[in-house]
Amino acid sequence: MGKVRHVLGISGGKDSAALAIYLKNKHPELDIEYYTCDTGKELDETYELVEKLEKYLGKKIVKLQAKKDSLHSPFDYLLKIKGNYLPSHFSRWCTRELKLKPFEDWIKDDPVISYVGIRGDESREGYISKKTNIQSIFPFRRNIWSEDVINKVLNNSNIAQIVRLYEENSNEGDFNALRPYLEQPLSFEFPQKQKLESLLDAGTATFNKVVFQFLKNTKYPLAKEKDFSLLENEDNLVREDIFQILENSGIGVPEYYKKVAYQVEGQEGYYARSRSGCYFCFFQQKIEWVWLYEQHPHLYELAMDYEKDGYTWIQDESLAELILPERIQQIKEDNIKRVEHAAANSRSDLLLDILGEAEEEGCAACFI
Ligand code: SF4
Repeated sequence: MGKVRHVLGISGGKDSAALAIYLKNKHPELDIEYYTCDTGKELDETYELVEKLEKYLGKKIVKLQAKKDSLHSPFDYLLKIKGNYLPSHFSRWCTRELKLKPFEDWIKDDPVISYVGIRGDESREGYISKKTNIQSIFPFRRNIWSEDVINKVLNNSNIAQIVRLYEENSNEGDFNALRPYLEQPLSFEFPQKQKLESLLDAGTATFNKVVFQFLKNTKYPLAKEKDFSLLENEDNLVREDIFQILENSGIGVPEYYKKVAYQVEGQEGYYARSRSGCYFCFFQQKIEWVWLYEQHPHLYELAMDYEKDGYTWIQDESLAELILPERIQQIKEDNIKRVEHAAANSRSDLLLDILGEAEEEGCAACFI
């Protein structure tokens, strides 16, 4: 194993872009390699964002592509091999083959710290590489560690080691106050999440130092590093902070996130796209398909062309059916009702916040 590489994947989404800006400004000491996995079917805004970021970061963003031939983009090449079997929620060959594999081929067996832009207000872990030479770090969260690391650190069999590390890294008073928590085994009444929150509440930087030292005796890439500047990180960034970072940097929020007004039956509604990724991504909500049809009709047509041999992007409806006038009207009306209902229970007036649940689905590789 060689030198530890620090990498950050730019998906085209707001969170990974904001993370690149944030780390450049807050941790310029990290020598980060940036990359993006291009399916050949991303939105134009994604390619524009990558260009703008390259200028801002003053570094090249390496473009990784899965296999293709002279006639076909990576997605089309793979689709041909799959016999036109479109990817879906149940068979997500696209993420695996077009995003994760090119990334894993690029890093080979090098030890890698991969920075992932999952925010403090999200509960997902993301669909990330599980290769043992890749360690994911989440700088936007108070808990910067991946689930597998936390599972090991807080495992009951490691209590004695963690108690010892806390004793070495805290003053006597703090250690004695925390000791009962540290020594309490995980159980149904004291689940891992509760123990983790208690330790983070008591001091995030101390917790991070303990985890870092614990990892020294493991094969995780961070075990090879003498120090790690994110150990002092106590930030917890939420969606609003991300928009702020993008606006303040001058890069701005990708156009497709911006809400567009529509009229239906005398009512006004709004739609936008909630994520980056391929223009035909099956994770889209129906109202986002309508947005694509009305805002980027040529892309909608291209998406329709893929629907053949009985395969469709949406399980219960073809794209031709979805754009029948009465169907569009119904989807728009349903969306108004849904937004009204969600807005009544939301503290934010951002459409993306209101429809935020849609963002939790999907994968770190495509949408962050
Ligand atoms: S954006 Fe959607 S269609 Fe494209 S690779 Fe990711 S999951 Fe697949």
